[in-house]
Amino acid sequence: VLLMAIDFEGMSSLELCWSARLVASTHRPLFIIVMSASTDEEQLAEALDAGADDFIGKPPRKTELLARLRSGKRMLAAQRDLIRIASFDALTGLRNRRFFFDMIAEAEAKPDLASILVLDIDYFKQVNDRHGHDGGDMVLQEVARRLAEIDSRFARIGGEEFSLLVRGPIEMAAVIAEKVRRELAMLPVKLPSVELQVTISVGVAQRNPGMTFEQAMKDADIALYASKSGGRNRVTLARVADNTASLEAQPRSHDKSQGPRGEVVMLMA
Ligand code: GH3
Ligand code: MG
Ligand code: MG
Repeated sequence: VLLMAIDFEGMSSLELCWSARLVASTHRPLFIIVMSASTDEEQLAEALDAGADDFIGKPPRKTELLARLRSGKRMLAAQRDLIRIASFDALTGLRNRRFFFDMIAEAEAKPDLASILVLDIDYFKQVNDRHGHDGGDMVLQEVARRLAEIDSRFARIGGEEFSLLVRGPIEMAAVIAEKVRRELAMLPVKLPSVELQVTISVGVAQRNPGMTFEQAMKDADIALYASKSGGRNRVTLARVADNTASLEAQPRSHDKSQGPRGEVVMLMA
């Protein structure tokens, strides 16, 4: 709750009210109560239009203020629920597709170097076929739990597809990708009656300055596809010299410490 005494003279408090709304955006619950000695109808309307949720006279009376705070608390609880439902995946608890793409849209305006990691579970249809949809769901939950342990910002962007925005160069994203791949491949997922070897394929791409995230996402998808067609359970990095460069596979030397059947492949433009 933001309780602010406003002064209609300089307008700066109404601007502050609006700025607080912008900072909270659609991801943080916020209830703003403005407090003023003014009884002017126009000014009251102005405060509400600037993003306030409620209004109280100045000085506030204790009983009224406490009642308005209780009302604010109910509103915040409802906002919190809506944010959770709209932004997080119900099955895994990870950020959902919408949250992920909103975050990317926000990052688009910043010129900073960033990387995208896209991963997809290998032969997941077989898991559903052999162990039922509930078995598949359990695998998704366990994979998500392990991803979140490595980075809580992983998002579930599709059925068995996950993504992470890394604020750094491709090398930084590649380290995370390889850690995720290896840790999944090393430790089987326990279902009630069986232990399953679950592997993932990963594509990683860098978003260079002047490049859109849409392009970086496409490059990561091409790299993911290369990981799949190259045999799965591997990480492929997309190296892009310019925005239109086509990608061509170029395998890198195999490192035995990378876990069972794992391989890092570097794609060069
Ligand atoms: P590949 O190695 O090429 O990725 O093969 P795949 O079998 O994983 O292929 P594909 O991506 O086509 O299969 C995804 C399957 O995931 C199909 C769909 O039935 C299943 N799926 C999608 N969402 C869910 C979900 O929420 N729960 C369960 N149990 N299955 C899901
Ligand atoms: Mg798959
Ligand atoms: Mg898939």
